[in-house]
Amino acid sequence: MTGKCMGIVHVHTSYSHDCRDSLEMLRAFCLARGIGWAALTDHAEDLTPAIFSEFVARCASISDDRVTLIPGLEYRFAGFPGLHLLALGQHRWMNPETPAEFIRQSHQASRFTIAAHPILYDYQLPDAVLDGIDAVEIWNATYNTRFLPDPRAIRLLHAARNRRPEIVGTAGLDQHDSRNDRETRVMISAGESDPLLALKEGRFRNVGKTMSFDSVATMNPARFAALTLARWLFDRIERAHRLLPARAARSDAIV
Ligand SMILES: [Zn+2]
Ligand SMILES: [Zn+2]
Repeated sequence: MTGKCMGIVHVHTSYSHDCRDSLEMLRAFCLARGIGWAALTDHAEDLTPAIFSEFVARCASISDDRVTLIPGLEYRFAGFPGLHLLALGQHRWMNPETPAEFIRQSHQASRFTIAAHPILYDYQLPDAVLDGIDAVEIWNATYNTRFLPDPRAIRLLHAARNRRPEIVGTAGLDQHDSRNDRETRVMISAGESDPLLALKEGRFRNVGKTMSFDSVATMNPARFAALTLARWLFDRIERAHRLLPARAARSDAIV
């Protein structure tokens, strides 16, 4: 698999209830864009142990020297709204009921774990997750848009690294429809033969539509301040755009 530099992370397929992209469609999506590997993260609650085995086997049979589909699942937990944990390179079924169980079981059942979209749980990770997770998703192209990463998630990553310096930060598509490519990529070097090992050891670069940064989002204070300001402005403009149709509808109703 040497030479497959460009990858995508946090990708759903038709194994998720909210996605219609078959594995074959996803393979075509990758081939059309020169993407060599895709780390899949289907919703765990949509699978059974038998379907999971089929999923893993089909990923292997569809993969070849041009595209590797890496099986994985996204887990959610009762009592932890918004906290979704991704297990990449998952080869064994698991059914954890709590984030702490996920951390314990994922060490045996998968190869790389990510705390997805921290914006959905107000950037508060339970200690058990901080103690065992491999990565924080610092740019979720669905929740943070394709245009800018999430400075508060980057701050969470840097705080988490004070506790465990091996934690890295990944960009994820959170893709549910391959007709809408939000263009975040994870790049490894041409000599790497194992994308998940490169991720685990921080040998990658996150590349998005407007900016790129290394695996720990190294930024000098001026760049981080500029990103924070840009994010603030962008979010306000976006909110104003979202409110406009609602206001227009209200004024129509009054008229
Ligand atoms: Zn999620
Ligand atoms: Zn997802």
